Amino acid sequence: MKTAIISGASRGIGKTTAISLAKEGYRVIVNYLNSQESADKVCEDINSAGGSAIAYKADMSDPSQIVAMTQYVKNNFGSIDLVVANAGIGLNSLLIDCSDEEIRKVIDVNLIGVITLCREVGKIMLSQKSGNIVTLSSMWGQVGGSCESVYSAAKGGIIAFTKAIAKEFSLSGVRANCVAPGFIDTSMNSNLSQSDKLTVIDEIPLFRAGSPQDVADAILWLASEKASYVTGQVISVNGGLII
Ligand code: NAP
Repeated sequence: MKTAIISGASRGIGKTTAISLAKEGYRVIVNYLNSQESADKVCEDINSAGGSAIAYKADMSDPSQIVAMTQYVKNNFGSIDLVVANAGIGLNSLLIDCSDEEIRKVIDVNLIGVITLCREVGKIMLSQKSGNIVTLSSMWGQVGGSCESVYSAAKGGIIAFTKAIAKEFSLSGVRANCVAPGFIDTSMNSNLSQSDKLTVIDEIPLFRAGSPQDVADAILWLASEKASYVTGQVISVNGGLII
């Protein structure tokens, strides 16, 4: 049985990805930080449907917790076949209003957390000579978002980082790709009023918000053998908003 770690799988895109991967036969490690109840429920649903899931609490902004999680998975399940570096937080604020703490937090979780997770999983995948990495960027990592400059910097960094490790890991049979979602209907956008949401949707050529499943499907394709000749790429899942 293949094993996948999905960071930030208690809610939103990560949750739907974990459920979808479990349906494809993966044993899934449902990483979470605060939403234990929700992570446990994701695992309960997967396990009662005949799949295999465990919840694992680890803060993606703490390298020692990332090391402990990857070692736990390696020691208990033998291999790590897929990592989906999904955990992320938003920061909607004018740059001039961002505090040092806010800037550091967003970079720690969204960028350094992804780099550290991929480094730790990379050690295991390189020794296995197989593995698959999917990172989560954002359309703002591609074009920059006003009032989301620090978030954009972290997400842009993820794109460059993913392309770099795709080259570095390729000789060891490890692929690395990135998914860049647009406007997806999750709690990350719960700060927007209904009318703000409709204004955004009005700008989207496909005239709807994306669903977590839209993003999960792209992740599943990248993780599958159907994408065996695809590495170092950014797949935009944004309804045509950013082309
Ligand atoms: P979400 O619904 O807010 O869920 C975020 C997930 O990340 C939760 O499971 C949360 O876990 C976890 N998380 C946050 N900080 C963490 C930390 N320090 N350590 C471990 N887990 C942590 O977000 P989403 O919309 O599904 O977003 C998923 C990814 O897609 C993010 O990287 C986001 O930047 C990216 N994205 C989203 C959109 C969008 O429109 N929604 C667009 C572009 C990109 P707990 O609740 O357990 O703390």
